[in-house]
Amino acid sequence: MSNATLIYDIRNSRYLNITGRCTLRCRFCPKHNGSKQVHEYQLALDHQPKAEEIIKQLGNVAQFDEYVFCGYGEPTLNLPTLLAVAQVIKQKGGRVRVNTDGLGNLVHRRNILPELAPWIDTLSISLNADTEQAYQTHCQPKLKNSYQAVKEFILLAPHYINSVQVSAIDGLEGVDIQACQTFVESCGASFKHRVLDIVG
Ligand code: SF4
Repeated sequence: MSNATLIYDIRNSRYLNITGRCTLRCRFCPKHNGSKQVHEYQLALDHQPKAEEIIKQLGNVAQFDEYVFCGYGEPTLNLPTLLAVAQVIKQKGGRVRVNTDGLGNLVHRRNILPELAPWIDTLSISLNADTEQAYQTHCQPKLKNSYQAVKEFILLAPHYINSVQVSAIDGLEGVDIQACQTFVESCGASFKHRVLDIVG
């Protein structure tokens, strides 16, 4: 039995940690800086959790403002669990947010937005850079064409999901935060400034 933290609560939201894998190696990611903790939670995972493991820990959906697929990994890399768990939460009347790096379509080689749309209220996408060069420097993507892919994902997402928020981090060297905001708003999404070192 693993004692990894699959579920953790911050303020009135319940966070779901469904994978430790990631498509990026962000320089600012705490997990590359010796910490796999968010608040008091230890988020290192030794396996990809199945939907049933998460579902039995969901608790009473009425008690939480929303459920957030987050953690130190990219939730769309465990897509079967993400979809199955989000469906259960929605069917119980809960709200679902997915925090993503926006590379799910590149990884899965298809548009996954129609699969996500029925079960997700809010999509939070990390853009993090207004140029490919800055993206490469700060996010160190593992896959080719990642920057193009995240921009395409941001363009597509508002066609499927009502609430799409896209973030960039204030203070990353070489990043023009205003240019990020202009691009995001031109796609019909809303822009969110993030502050370095605050996760969740
Ligand atoms: S996308 Fe998130 S979890 Fe993945 S490397 Fe970047 S900061 Fe870390």
